[in-house]
Amino acid sequence: MPIYTPPLRDMQFVLHEVFKVTDEFKAMPAHAEVDADTINAVLEEAGKFAAGVAFPLNISGDTEGCKLDTATHEVTPPKGFKEAYRQYVEGGWPALSCDPEYGGQGLPHTVNQCLYEMLNSANQAWTMYPGLSHGAYEALLAHGTDEQKKTYLPKLVSGEWTGTMCLTEPHCGTDLGMLRTKAEPQGDGTYKLTGNKIFISAGEHDFTENIVHLVLARLPDAPKGSKGISLFVVPKFKVNADGSLGERNPIFCTGLEHKMGIHGNATAQIAIDGATGTLVGEPNKGLAAMFVMMNAARLGVGNQSLGLTEVAFQNALAYAKDRIQMRSLSGKKAPDKEADPIIVHPDVRKMLLTAKAYAEGARALQVFCTLLLDKAHGHPDEKVRKDSDELVALLTPIVKAFVTDNGHVATNACMQVFGGHGFIKEWGMEQFVRDNRINMIYEGTNTIQSLDLLGRKVLGNNGATLKKFGKLVGQLVAEEGVNEKMAEFINPIAYLGDQMTKFTTEIGFRGFQNPDEVGAAAVDYLRVAGHLVFGYLFARMAQVALREIAAGNTDPFYVAKLQTARFYFAKLFPETATLMRTARAGSKVLMDTDAALA
Ligand SMILES: Cc1cc2nc3c(=O)[nH]c(=O)nc-3n(C[C@H](O)[C@H](O)[C@H](O)COP(=O)(O)OP(=O)(O)OC[C@H]3O[C@@H](n4cnc5c(N)ncnc54)[C@H](O)[C@@H]3O)c2cc1C
Repeated sequence: MPIYTPPLRDMQFVLHEVFKVTDEFKAMPAHAEVDADTINAVLEEAGKFAAGVAFPLNISGDTEGCKLDTATHEVTPPKGFKEAYRQYVEGGWPALSCDPEYGGQGLPHTVNQCLYEMLNSANQAWTMYPGLSHGAYEALLAHGTDEQKKTYLPKLVSGEWTGTMCLTEPHCGTDLGMLRTKAEPQGDGTYKLTGNKIFISAGEHDFTENIVHLVLARLPDAPKGSKGISLFVVPKFKVNADGSLGERNPIFCTGLEHKMGIHGNATAQIAIDGATGTLVGEPNKGLAAMFVMMNAARLGVGNQSLGLTEVAFQNALAYAKDRIQMRSLSGKKAPDKEADPIIVHPDVRKMLLTAKAYAEGARALQVFCTLLLDKAHGHPDEKVRKDSDELVALLTPIVKAFVTDNGHVATNACMQVFGGHGFIKEWGMEQFVRDNRINMIYEGTNTIQSLDLLGRKVLGNNGATLKKFGKLVGQLVAEEGVNEKMAEFINPIAYLGDQMTKFTTEIGFRGFQNPDEVGAAAVDYLRVAGHLVFGYLFARMAQVALREIAAGNTDPFYVAKLQTARFYFAKLFPETATLMRTARAGSKVLMDTDAALA
C-alpha cells in the first residue's frame, strides 16, 4: 500500500524562511494577525485530515468509481467519500480562506494552497469536489449580485452546498465561442436554460443537498463567438426566498464518463432542460466572469500535479531504499545483503531527484503565486496590488502547464523506480500517473496555456510583465553576484535571463511576420520560461540554505536543499538550451508537411 507523509517541514521552509510570509501579511489589514504558529498548527491539522481521512480512500475510490442511477439521475461516489466530505465540512476546511462576511475564516490563499497540496497528494479525485466549490465561491464573490452572494456564498463557504463549472459542450472545449446552450429571459429577472454540457467535474453526487452549477450560455440576441457568452448560476434545487430548498431544477446528470484516471470524481454529462437560472455579471461578459474561476482553477490544477509529484516521490524513495537488485557499479554498498538497494544506481537516483526537484520547485512556485494573489487582493498599496496581479497573471499559465508537464515526467519516473511492480495496481504508482494525465488537458490544454503565455501575456504587452519578473531575477543576481558560493545557482539564471530577452524579441519578430511562428514556438517557450522561474526560486532556496549553514545550523534539511538545487541546475535546467533551439527551428517544418500528414 502507498504511503504519504505531509511535507510540513518543506512547506514551513518555503513559507517562513524563503518568503517570510508573516512579514508580508503584516502589511495586509485582513491578515496582519496571522502568525507562524497559527499557520503551522493549521497545516499540521490539515495534514492529519489529508493523510488520515482522504488518503486511505484513494485506491478504493479509483477501483470503485462513481455510479449513476439513470432513473433518478443521482450519482453515488465511491464508498467513504461522502463521510470524508462530512468530516471535512465539520472541520471547517471549506471556509479556511473565505471571506468572514460569508462565514469564512479569512486566512490567506497562501495557507489554503498548502491545504490543497496535501489533499491532492492524498486523493485528487476526492479533492476536486471541494476544489470546484471553492472556484464557484470565488466567481460569485467577484461577480455575483448581492442577492446571489447572500443566497449562495454562506452555503458554499460552509460546505453545505458544492459548486461546479459548466463550460464544455460536446462540440466545443477549447473554442467556447461555439457554445450553444441557450438562456431565455423570463421577464421576472430569471432565465430558462437549455443545452447539453459534458465533462463536468463533480457534476453530481450525494454529499450535499444542493449543487450550484455555474453555466455558460448564450442570450437570444447575443453576438456570435466568445463575445456573446453569459454566465448563469443554476442550482440543482431552486432556492426559496427564505433560503430553504424549492423544487428540483431540470439540470440532470445523464451519463458519467469512463475515463483514464480520477475515477472517484464524477465527470458528468449534464442535460439542461429548461432550468431556471440567474445572470452572473453583465450580459455577454460571461467569459470574463468565468475567468475568475478558471484562473483559480488553473493554479489549482498545478497544485494537483504538485501533490501527485510529492506523493509519488515519497513512495519511490521508500521503495528504492528497500528493493535490492544488482550491485553498485562502484563496489558493494550493502555487503551483508544479496544485492544492493536500487537507490545506489545513478539513474534510479536521477529519477528520484527529478521528482524531488519538480515537487520542491512547484511548492515554492505555488507559495510565490498565492502570496502574490493575497497581495493583489488585500495589500493597501494600489501599486503593489497592480504589480502582484500582473505577475500572477504571467505566472498562471506557467503553473498550469509547466508544473503539470513536470508532474507527468515525475510520476512516470517514480513508477519506473518500481520496475514491473510500478505497473501493478496494488502499489498505487500507476494511479498517480493516470490521475496526473488529465491535469495537462483540462482547464485549457497545456498548448493553450503556452499560447496564452507567449501570445497574450508576453508579446501582447511587449514583454512588460516579463520584464517585471526579469527585474526580480536581476535583483537576486545583483545581491548575490559576488558571492562565490552562490555562483552555481546565480550564473545559470543570469545567463538565461539575458538570453530570454533576445529569444522573446526574435520569436515576437517572426510572429509579427507569420502568426504560425508563435504557435510553433509557444510550448517550448513556456518550458524555457518555467525553468527561468524555477531557477530563480531554487536560487532563493539555496541562498537561505547557504546562510543557515554559514550560521552554524547543522540541520541536514539545508544540505538536502542544496543538493537538490545542484541537481536541478545540473540535470534539468539545461534543457532550456535545446528548447530554445527547437523553438527557433520555426513553423516551416510543421506547416510545410502536407505530404507527411496526408
Ligand atoms: C476528466 C475531465 C474533467 C473535466 N472537467 C471539466 C469541468 O468541470 N468543466 C468544464 O467545463 N469542462 C471540463 N472538462 C473539459 C476540458 O476542460 C476540455 O476537455 C479541454 O478544455 C479541451 O477541450 P476539448 O476536449 O474539446 O479538446 P479540443 O478543444 O477539441 O482540443 C483538441 C486538441 O486541439 C488542440 N487545440 C485546440 N485549439 C488549438 C489552438 N488554437 N492552437 C493549438 N492547439 C489547439 C488542443 O490543445 C488539443 O490538443 C473536463 C475534461 C475532462 C476529460
